[in-house]
Amino acid sequence: MNLLRKIRSTGRVAEPAPPRPTDAPPAAARELRGSAQVRHVDAGSCNGCEIEIGMAFGPVHDAERYGARLVASPRHADVLLVTGPVTRNMAEPLRRTVAAAAEPRLVVAVGDCALNCGEFAGGYGVEGAVGDVVPVDVEVRGCPPAPERIVAALRTVTGR
Ligand code: SF4
Repeated sequence: MNLLRKIRSTGRVAEPAPPRPTDAPPAAARELRGSAQVRHVDAGSCNGCEIEIGMAFGPVHDAERYGARLVASPRHADVLLVTGPVTRNMAEPLRRTVAAAAEPRLVVAVGDCALNCGEFAGGYGVEGAVGDVVPVDVEVRGCPPAPERIVAALRTVTGR
């Protein structure tokens, strides 16, 4: 009973919804009609971006309320959320993962490393940025990007 009382007294913890982003959605996003199944791919990240993605889908920022939902397989996904510079070992798995997602699909590159290799540029194990390996539809800048930015990028995809 104490737990139930606690749940009732805590109430809603999510941040109030900010205004919808005004960025034009990628063309493929229009076919998703407000709902995006999202598969995260770590292509060589330091895990900083993963912590922020975890926050974006946590109870405070709650990306699910805008129609974005994490799934466990690229075969169930419309959106690939890719972090990190792409390491040599992850280049081919990333290509295969993107190919495994059905069309229409979108790739969202999250973090400066995904966009331009960031701190890891020139590293011996780095193949390149995400855009060097697969086509990128949406970019999220920052090292790491704040959860608000990740949620805003997903909202441009879902349009909600
Ligand atoms: S952008 Fe920053 S936090 Fe994200 S993987 Fe690169 S170094 Fe880590």
